[in-house]
Amino acid sequence: MSIAENIAAIRAKMRQAAIAAGRNPDEIVLCAATKMNDADAVREAIAAGIDCCGENRVQELTEKMAQDAYHGAPVHFIGHLQTNKVKQVVGKVDLIQSVDRMNLLEALEKEAARQGIVQNILLEINVGREESKSGFLPEQLDQVLENIEQFSHLRVKGLMAIPPISHFEGENRRYFKEIYQFCVDISRKKYDNVDMDCLSMGMSGDYADAIACGSTMIRIGTAIFGARPYAQTHQTSGQ
Ligand SMILES: *Cc1c(COP(=O)(O)O)cnc(C)c1O
Repeated sequence: MSIAENIAAIRAKMRQAAIAAGRNPDEIVLCAATKMNDADAVREAIAAGIDCCGENRVQELTEKMAQDAYHGAPVHFIGHLQTNKVKQVVGKVDLIQSVDRMNLLEALEKEAARQGIVQNILLEINVGREESKSGFLPEQLDQVLENIEQFSHLRVKGLMAIPPISHFEGENRRYFKEIYQFCVDISRKKYDNVDMDCLSMGMSGDYADAIACGSTMIRIGTAIFGARPYAQTHQTSGQ
């Protein structure tokens, strides 16, 4: 199957899942997780109609940007971000999805202020409370959001989560529902610099379940590009 055929199949399944849940299919964004795929593969995916690209590693992001690989699509950062690399990401991507700790928030605010811009971000939630994963714990969220009110160069656009690897269809629904509920609760509290328009959850193995539970953005790698050549060593790599 070609990248275009894969994307057409995913779009069909997205539609079906949205309609089954009584949702408008047009409100769900398809983000291509492009890690370990080269500029040509990225261009092919953009031509085939994905909505945005998500990159995991700063080095890959920088290389592919230099090759103009993302032309025609917004780029997001979706991997673990070291504070000493924020300069290479802030102001370069439309959305940083993987903001997973307080000192990263501080570094992002400082860099965005230095550039005189407002950077859109998502907060990553460690919904499965896995030691191997990054992200805020659910009970930390209120405190974090209260702190963010002082960060005038950041806008929180929603939440991102990578639930535990599921072993059967539907296993992650309870996590997806839990995250959706966090979004609803946070929206009600009306924090400054915060809205919950984006709920980024669902990957190749579970995106239909995520859509059923309220996801507005799915991040798909394998189902678009095929299996990655080797396992990425980092914790947020998926499989
Ligand atoms: C790789 C990756 C994905 C996509 O995973 P697949 O299972 O290949 O679809 C989604 N989100 C993040 C953060 C990733 O690193």
